[in-house]
Parts: sequence; structure tokens; C-alpha cells
Amino acid sequence: MTRKVSMFIDGQSVISESADWMDVTDPATQEAICQVPMATEAEMEKAIASAKKAFETWKDVPVTKRARMMLNYQHLLKEHHDELAEILAEETGKNFEDAKGDVWRGIEVAEHAANIPSMMMGETVENVASQVDTYSLIQPLGVCAGITPFNFPAMIPLWMFPMAVVCGNTFVLKPSEQDPNTPMRLAELFYEAGFPRDVLQVVHGGKDQVNQILHHEDIQAISFVGSVPVGEHIYKTGTDNLKRVQAFAGAKNHMVVMPDANKNQVINNIAGSSCGAAGQRCMAISVAVLVGEAKDWLEEIKGKMSEMQPGYWKDPKSFYGPLISPQAKAKVESLIQSGVDEGADLMLDGRNLKVEGYPDGNWLGPSLFSNVTTEMRIYNEEIFGPVLCVMTADTLEEAIELINNNPYGNGTSLFTSSGAAARKFQHEIKVGQVGINIPIPVPLPFFSFTGWRKSFYGDQHAYGKQAVRFYTETKTITARWFESDIPDDAAPNATINL
Ligand code: NAD
Repeated sequence: MTRKVSMFIDGQSVISESADWMDVTDPATQEAICQVPMATEAEMEKAIASAKKAFETWKDVPVTKRARMMLNYQHLLKEHHDELAEILAEETGKNFEDAKGDVWRGIEVAEHAANIPSMMMGETVENVASQVDTYSLIQPLGVCAGITPFNFPAMIPLWMFPMAVVCGNTFVLKPSEQDPNTPMRLAELFYEAGFPRDVLQVVHGGKDQVNQILHHEDIQAISFVGSVPVGEHIYKTGTDNLKRVQAFAGAKNHMVVMPDANKNQVINNIAGSSCGAAGQRCMAISVAVLVGEAKDWLEEIKGKMSEMQPGYWKDPKSFYGPLISPQAKAKVESLIQSGVDEGADLMLDGRNLKVEGYPDGNWLGPSLFSNVTTEMRIYNEEIFGPVLCVMTADTLEEAIELINNNPYGNGTSLFTSSGAAARKFQHEIKVGQVGINIPIPVPLPFFSFTGWRKSFYGDQHAYGKQAVRFYTETKTITARWFESDIPDDAAPNATINL
């Protein structure tokens, strides 16, 4: 019988009583790894109620203690790094190096979260009026929830709950139903690190379970990462229910190539950043804009991309893995067909690719389109596969205008040897994360992950100082302490004399 994934509710590992279970499959073989439940309404209710109760004591645990637990946690994550990467590779199909990267980028957030005491410092101004001081306290919100996508099952849950709990909140995590084993192992290690078990609850499910979170009066804040339509729904519904929401959504990331860039660097980086992780990264490069004479590099880009072949995660020669599901593969293939139908030139066609020994995998070879225009679906929709659209521009200004007219604003990069071009680009581009000669500029956790426009809904971003602001309230105190020689019959004074 297929193993059933448990949930962590009210300090216990429980097998759901739901009648609704979904197979989690190995995307290279379609074999079922386990089954994941769609939690019942009562199970969701119990998890949220337990997190609410846990908050009453957890919020008063000294910040230094919370930080020490997080130090233990990041240490345990490092000890179990390869084990986590194996679990992750098996359920996502990512090659082992990429799976390790997914885990490592999450560990970096846990390391950062361990610095919480200095990030929880308020501000003080002495003598705002005669003998009156004003100072601020940073306090947690209560129960926070996280809803995460399939494509980074270690890193993205770790963007959320470590930061939320060190701030003093409790957390309900609803990971992607497509790869729940990695977040479950993250949670086990979290309890092993010494955190009370009811501080983090893990529930499983899809749309209905998320909607219960969105409407629940005891959830104060929601962090979401996933696709654009779901992100919009979560932001609108969550804020309509008067919750704090940060929703990270889809992307269309352009790499601009100037003719003065280092050609070999460009070609390697374009191929790697468009095909890596089968293009299933929100920061993958999906559009290359070749400026001026860089247009002549197209054939070499095609040559490099055709070397990037997918394979099974244990095969060290595989550059990337399968797509997550047959549905995801069918969607990418239909977008490729739309590109052909709309007149783009399909220079590399990754459809119908076979990987020896894995006839049932969701494989797709690298695909390359040239002659792409802004009206085409392949340009306007997030493809989320190893597909690169190549466009051209005569000037940097033209390339900037193209990007600024695209609705997404997650990441972009410029390859050039000109400091002036780089400065102009970083200043004028309306995208939240910019790489200069760096293809995938994901900021380290002491900064924040700062997508813009249609790639992000909300105010405060993930990790870094912004996450602390997102997961806390500021309380401002104005205080006067009378000195003992003030006469008892001094006149009452309701106002501060400034
Ligand atoms: P998805 O939107 O299908 O699912 C994300 C989460 O939402 C899952 O937990 C899922 O169970 C839940 N969900 C799905 N449909 C829902 C619905 N109708 N109502 C409520 N909840 C629902 O996304 P995915 O396919 O798992 O992940 C890929 C997407 O995530 C891509 O669009 C990618 O760009 C995006 N992503 C964005 C970032 C970022 O930082 N901007 C990072 C990673 C992934």
C-alpha cells in the first residue's frame, strides 16, 4: 500500500481522516512515492486553534532563547543537508546539485533568522517633551500562515516559518501538495531543534484548505508564493478579510545582452539560466534581448542550449530534471505550439524527447524561439519550462522600454562591460531584482526578495528586514516618570507640553 503522508497538528504527527487523497509521483517515472491528504475542515480548525493557543506562551519566550533554537535548527539543517536534498530530488526530479542548492538557499534564511534579537530592536527618542521619552517595541502578530509552491519545497517554506517564529509568532504551513515530503522533514528537524511542537503546524491540501486559511479570523498574516492567478486570489481574498498578505507570483525575466559583453559568459549564462531546473524557477531567464551586434550570437546560444540535456536526478550528467507533472508538461508543450502557430521561429524543439530508461518521465528538451514579438502568448505568459524566447533591440533604451512594458517585474539582468550602461539599466528598469553580469540575481537573506509589479502583491517582501516588519507590529510608547519631589497637588495635565 502507498505510504500516507502525515500532518503535524497540535504537537502530534497525525494521519488525516480525509477521504480525499492525492498521489505524489516521481516525475521521472510516474510511480507513486506516497499519498497526500486534503485535510478535513476539522483538522484545519484544530491546527489553527492549536497555533493560536501556542502563541499565548511562545510570544513571551525570550528572543535570545528563540534565536538559540534557530541556531540549533540551522545546524541540524546543515547536518541533514544531503538527506533533505535526496528527498527533494526524488519528489521534484531536480538533479542533485540543484536539489542541494534549493536546501542551501533555505538554510541561509535560517542562519539569518538566528540574528533576530538585533532585528527586533525598536527606536527611542529621549525628551520628546520635558521629561518625556518615546520608544517603540516590536511585537509579534499571532498566528501566521504560509502557502508554498512546488518548485522550491525547501527554500520557500524556509523563507517563511523561520522568520515568523523567531519574531514570536506561531505558524501554519500548507505546503504544495505536489512535493510535501521535503517540508515535512524540515518540520521534523524544527521540532528536533527544540522548538515547541505546536509553534509550527503542517497541514496538507489545495484550494479548499487555502480558502479556509484565507477566511479564518484567527490567522493574522499570510505569506504566499505561487502562480499569478492564485496569488491574485490570495491577495484579494486575504486583504478583503482584513489580513496582512504578501503574495509572490509568476514572472517573465529578461536578460539584456549588450554587444560589449563577454560572449562566452553570456552564452553559458543564458543556456544555464533558461534551462536550469527545467525552467521551473520564478527567476529563470525566459527572454533574451540581444542588442546591436549581439544579434549575431544566436547560433552559438542555440548550440550551447542543445548541450543542456535532462535526465534522472541521480545521473551526474543530467543538466536538469523532468517537469513536475504530465499536466505541466502538456501546458508547456501547448505554449510551444502556440509560438509556432503565431509565427515565431522554433530553432530548437524540445518536444518528443526521450530519456533512456525513463520512458514515462515528464521530459522536455531545451527549446528556443527567435523572431518573437510582444503580441505572442509565448512572450506574454509565463511558460515555466526550459524554453527561451529571443528578441532583438537596436539600443539599450529600446530593451529597457520592452521590459518596462512587460507586466512582470521579478528579475532581470544586463550583460555588459560598460559601467554607464549598467548604471542606466539599474536606475531605469522597473523590475525588483537586477543582475549586472549575474543571470539570476536572488538576494541573500540579509536583503529581501523584492519582486515588483505583477510578480508581487503586498508591501513587505520575503526575508531580511522586510520580513521582520511583515511578521510584527510596532508599538510606540510615550512615557513620563515623575520625580519624587513633584508635589501631590500638581495640576492634572492631559497633554504633553512640546
Ligand atoms: P500554484 O499557484 O499552482 O500553487 C501554489 C500554492 O497555492 C500551492 O500550495 C497550491 O496548493 C495552492 N493553490 C493552487 N491553486 C489554488 C487555488 N485555486 N486557490 C487557493 N490555493 C491554491 O503554483 P505552483 O505551480 O505550485 O508554483 C509555480 C508558480 O510559482 C510559478 O508561477 C512561479 O513563477 C511561482 N513562483 C514565484 C516565486 C516568486 O518568488 N515570485 C517563487 C517561486 C515560484
